[in-house]
Parts: sequence; C-alpha cells; structure tokens
Amino acid sequence: MTIDTDLRPGEVTVDAPPPRDATLYFIGRIRTPWTSRLETPRQGSHEGPVCRLEIFEPWVPALKGVDFYTHLEVIYWLHRSRRDLVLQSPKHHDEKTRGTFSLRSPVRPNPIGTSTVKFVALEGNTVLVRGLDCLDETPLLDLKPDRCVFSPLSQQQVPAIEGK
Ligand code: SAM
Repeated sequence: MTIDTDLRPGEVTVDAPPPRDATLYFIGRIRTPWTSRLETPRQGSHEGPVCRLEIFEPWVPALKGVDFYTHLEVIYWLHRSRRDLVLQSPKHHDEKTRGTFSLRSPVRPNPIGTSTVKFVALEGNTVLVRGLDCLDETPLLDLKPDRCVFSPLSQQQVPAIEGK
C-alpha cells in the first residue's frame, strides 16, 4: 500500500518542514478486517466488527485495569496518510474545499486518529474492542479510559486500581 498522492480540484499542499522527532512510542498495533482505505469506515461504529489492540512489551503491564471500563479512547497513527495538505476537497463534502483543521480527515500534519470504542474483552496482551475505523496494522499510540458518562463501570473500583 502506498501513500495516496492524487489531488482533487481545490486541494493545496505545502512544503512541509522536516518533522521534529517527538519521540513517540508505538505501544502496539491494531488488527482490523480492513486492508484498503476505500473499505474502511469513515468513523467506527459500536456495532462494528471486533478489532484487536495488540500491546507490545514492555507496555503490557499498563493494561491492568482497562477492563473496568465500558468505553475506551484509542489514539493511533494513521501511517498511510500524506501530511502536506492544508486545503482538502473531500468526496463526502461534495468536494467543497475546506481547511485541514476543519476536517476529521486522516490527512493532516500529524496524522493522529482517535476513536471512542466499546470494550469487549482483555485477553493477555490484547484488548478486544468495537468501534474502530483504521487499516489493519495501524500503529497504536495510546489507550485511555473514555471521559464520558459510560465509564468507569463502578466508581468504587477505581481508587483500588489507582492506589496500586
Ligand atoms: N476516527 C478517527 C478520527 O476521527 O480521528 C479517524 C477518522 S479518518 C476519517 C478514518 C479514515 O482514515 C478511514 O476511512 C480510512 O480512509 C483512513 N485510514 C484508516 N487507517 C489509516 C491509516 N493507517 N493510514 C491512513 N489512512 C487511514
């Protein structure tokens, strides 16, 4: 798979400066059923397929407690995106041209994606979730409890976890 370089009418690129290294860790990889961008949903659905967040060592112990939450926030690196578009003409906006920061497009200077997912199960180093919208093998940047009303499952259980 290659980075898509085709431009639509109205789209504008810039000469992006060389990236400065933010020393991000890829803490794992996301396994999904989708291998092409065309078939990948634009936003995930909590009724969508179960996807797998495979956590790499040495980060596996950091999973302790994730199963206390019904919903998690997944943060990932949309590694197949180009990063130099400032104006975009997305198909689903009738190809009307808009600024990158007014869109949830994967094409952005730092191609970070976020999804609130439904927790399904924790199996060893792998978290099973529903609600993702990324390609198979997308690098995982972070995982945290969702801040919404669904979580945590039980308020009483949280201090016990956090105190350890
Ligand atoms: N839910 C995230 C968000 O709102 O931040 C991502 C939304 S983005 C519109 C989802 C689209 O990004 C998918 O439909 C697919 O076309 C594209 N995509 C998914 N995984 C990708 C990857 N690893 N690299 C580049 N593009 C990807």
